[in-house]
Amino acid sequence: MAGLHIVIVGAGLGGLMAACSLRLESTHSVTVLEAAAKLQEVGAGLQLTPNATKLLLRLGLRDALAPKAAEPVSFTFHRYSDGKRIGHRQNYGAEMQRKFKAPFWDMHRADLQQALYKRATELGVKFRFGAKVSGYEFSEPSATLKTGEVVEADLIIAADGLWSLARETFMGHPDPPLPTGDLAYRIVLDHSRITDPELKPFIEKPSVHLWAGPEAHVIYYNLRGGTMNNIVLLVPDNLPPEVSRAPADIDEMRTIFKDWDPILNKFLDLVPSVDKWRLMHHPELPSWTNEQGTIVLLGDACHPMLPYLAQGANSALEDGVVLGRLLSTVKEKSDLPGILRKYEDLRKPRSSFLHKYAMKQRHLNHLPDGEEQQRRDELLEREFEEPSDDYPFYWVNPQMQEVVYGYDANAEAERVLSQL
Ligand SMILES: Cc1cc2nc3c(=O)[nH]c(=O)nc-3n(C[C@H](O)[C@H](O)[C@H](O)COP(=O)(O)OP(=O)(O)OC[C@H]3O[C@@H](n4cnc5c(N)ncnc54)[C@H](O)[C@@H]3O)c2cc1C
Repeated sequence: MAGLHIVIVGAGLGGLMAACSLRLESTHSVTVLEAAAKLQEVGAGLQLTPNATKLLLRLGLRDALAPKAAEPVSFTFHRYSDGKRIGHRQNYGAEMQRKFKAPFWDMHRADLQQALYKRATELGVKFRFGAKVSGYEFSEPSATLKTGEVVEADLIIAADGLWSLARETFMGHPDPPLPTGDLAYRIVLDHSRITDPELKPFIEKPSVHLWAGPEAHVIYYNLRGGTMNNIVLLVPDNLPPEVSRAPADIDEMRTIFKDWDPILNKFLDLVPSVDKWRLMHHPELPSWTNEQGTIVLLGDACHPMLPYLAQGANSALEDGVVLGRLLSTVKEKSDLPGILRKYEDLRKPRSSFLHKYAMKQRHLNHLPDGEEQQRRDELLEREFEEPSDDYPFYWVNPQMQEVVYGYDANAEAERVLSQL
């Protein structure tokens, strides 16, 4: 059977995974329209958790990705002011492997994007770079490019990210993402520049460190086989309303953290320049697809969230896999509305839960010094070895690990299909 012609708008992680999954599972032809002239090194590190890495392994990407990843041997929570260890999980990467049969990988976003792009090309996906979509028609689906060219399709998958034009066209009114109140400084440091003996333990073995302080937190992890590290500083947003990303003033950044752990400050001494990124999100969308089944959204286009669970990209990858698997059963255009509704029913509750939990995690990460912070830190110290389901940091909370990392998007899609 010839299959449908599916156009994906956006070669971000979600769009690339949907493209791979569609070609792996079906004979549909797939064209990806990407505004950028080529894949760019936009962004920095990503934490890829077992719910997503199991999908990447299934795609055959272990050999391409493992050498680029850093698998943390430990996860440590620090008091912000003096760096005291208040929580710690040794053998963290091994624990993930044992529990979820898939790795916890810290990775540069560009490495993952390149590997997915290569795999998609092998699977026969057609790419058009420099193809910025400036308008949509959803009755007889088509995307109009900035050049005026009209690209027709049987289905449009909108994977066009936080500032999605497809979402706005679908909603029928301007729908810009909203500030969350926080912004991120995203720092990447090459280990060859790190000579201070006090910093050596951080770079000798891949690890994750989180400092939780009043209104702010910092997360540190290694990248590229442990040759680089990624440090994200999450602080109150002070960007002007019309700006969502801008070069940061290093002195301003240093002032915010001047009373934090001296070790963290030693890392910040090494930062020559950095950008600030406003963290944005959306209220939950009423729907991710239309009645005619001609448009469907995935990833940040429909569920951007605070990165405090590191699940934005992971869940965009899950969306892509589920969409590919469910659409593989579609033979006629008339099958689309029903199957896309199944996709929405399966995926929307999970992203809505993650969005809400990320807000809760923000509260716990940013507690001011006081009673609630003391209760949090006492629990951390008491459960240093064996965390309970109340553990305030979701990364080592057994129940949350099970919910987030134990999820298998592929198995979930199979379950839906078995009920048809
Ligand atoms: C500080 C920070 C840290 C983060 N850390 C993590 C983490 O550790 N783990 C994690 O899972 N997630 C993390 N995230 C979230 C993650 O980066 C996003 O959720 C993820 O990249 C979304 O993927 P996407 O494919 O939906 O969209 P995007 O990656 O934004 O891709 C959208 C693509 O669409 C293209 N496009 C847009 N408009 C058009 C158009 N009109 N025509 C054609 N192409 C178009 C864009 O050029 C882009 O290539 C973090 C985010 C931030 C800000």
